[in-house]
Amino acid sequence: MELDHDYSDDFPALSSRPKPMVYLDSAATTLKPNTVVDAVRWFLENGTSSVHRAFHTRSIDATDRFEGTRERLARWFGADTDEIVLTHGTTEAINLVRHGWQGLRRVATTLMEHHSNFVPWMDLERCDVIHVDSTGTLDWEGLEHSLKTGIDLVAVTQMSNVLAAAVDLERLVPLVHRYGARVLIDAAQTASHDPPNVRNLGIDFLACSGHKMLGPSGCGALYVKRELHEELKPMLLGGHMVDHVFPDSWTIQKAPQRYEAGTPPIESVIGWGAAIDYLQQIGTATLKQHLSELSSYLIDRLESVPGVKIVGPSRGQSRGPLASFSVEGLEASAIARILAQRDEVFVRAGFHCAQPLHQTLGLRPSVRASLQIYNTRADIDRFAKILGSVAKLGVM
Ligand code: PMP
Repeated sequence: MELDHDYSDDFPALSSRPKPMVYLDSAATTLKPNTVVDAVRWFLENGTSSVHRAFHTRSIDATDRFEGTRERLARWFGADTDEIVLTHGTTEAINLVRHGWQGLRRVATTLMEHHSNFVPWMDLERCDVIHVDSTGTLDWEGLEHSLKTGIDLVAVTQMSNVLAAAVDLERLVPLVHRYGARVLIDAAQTASHDPPNVRNLGIDFLACSGHKMLGPSGCGALYVKRELHEELKPMLLGGHMVDHVFPDSWTIQKAPQRYEAGTPPIESVIGWGAAIDYLQQIGTATLKQHLSELSSYLIDRLESVPGVKIVGPSRGQSRGPLASFSVEGLEASAIARILAQRDEVFVRAGFHCAQPLHQTLGLRPSVRASLQIYNTRADIDRFAKILGSVAKLGVM
């Protein structure tokens, strides 16, 4: 069955024929559609101005565009605009919770987290690491045990960027709340196509990055539930987050501005707004369907290559739009290099910023192929064909 639509023509990096490359590294960062490039270019050429500070028309226009992204993000996640804090990415968003929450002492996280949702918690009074098995299934009993012994925050990824395993948020959030703890969701890998509705699910904090949602790099967001605004102090002090400054004291703004000291990445945020419009036009149902069909196809093709071993959920279990694998007799980095050099097929190789997972489960560095809306079956065919010839080198 053919996929309904080929979106690759919307992406300048892919729109020439024959296709210049096969980009299978979207879990690291996504390509940008024309509309995003146009929005950033327009702003740099015609709109450059600071935001929030001035009364001149350029600044008012820039502020409207900038704040428009916050509104889009709020709609995307089912939040209110004052609950969306603009940051420089997921890492900064998570660090804001780490450093801003004064009473935070005991955190539970999981073995399959990206370093950005792992390292920030490590030097707290307690950081419980909840085990996951090789299919990415969480040790729910272990989590409940931790919660029973007193945890302030459970910080979990919505989907592992290595195993592609998803966490059941409908099960997680009520469990965490039952024990009076808060929950932070790292949505870096899912925000582009499977944004959780923070209000319906009752999520307390959610972090994401613009550059993984077809937007520019340098921008991200933290959703902070309104009732936590008082508890969460600003991480950075300086301009814009203050209301009045006296020689010996200052007062601070309300959320979200109180968390946004300094000049933000204005053109990136504006470009991110265009990215969300693009995603919104396609719609999450179509995005999910497209990526789920492509993922199944990717797994089928990978399984047909001798010597390939895929990590993560087994067949039949749901998985996100990426696959990490090893090839018998070959180093992951060598495979990635050959794919790029021989046929412009771009994948990622290594530990994918998830070393604790690899160490504990005894996984070798892997090759990761990750998908986005602009990928096609033809991409996967080209990838599988060249991988097949590379894999033969390993089993020889
Ligand atoms: N969490 C996950 C699951 C990720 O995949 C990434 C990016 N690879 C991050 C956090 C960090 O995102 P950023 O580098 O944009 O801050």
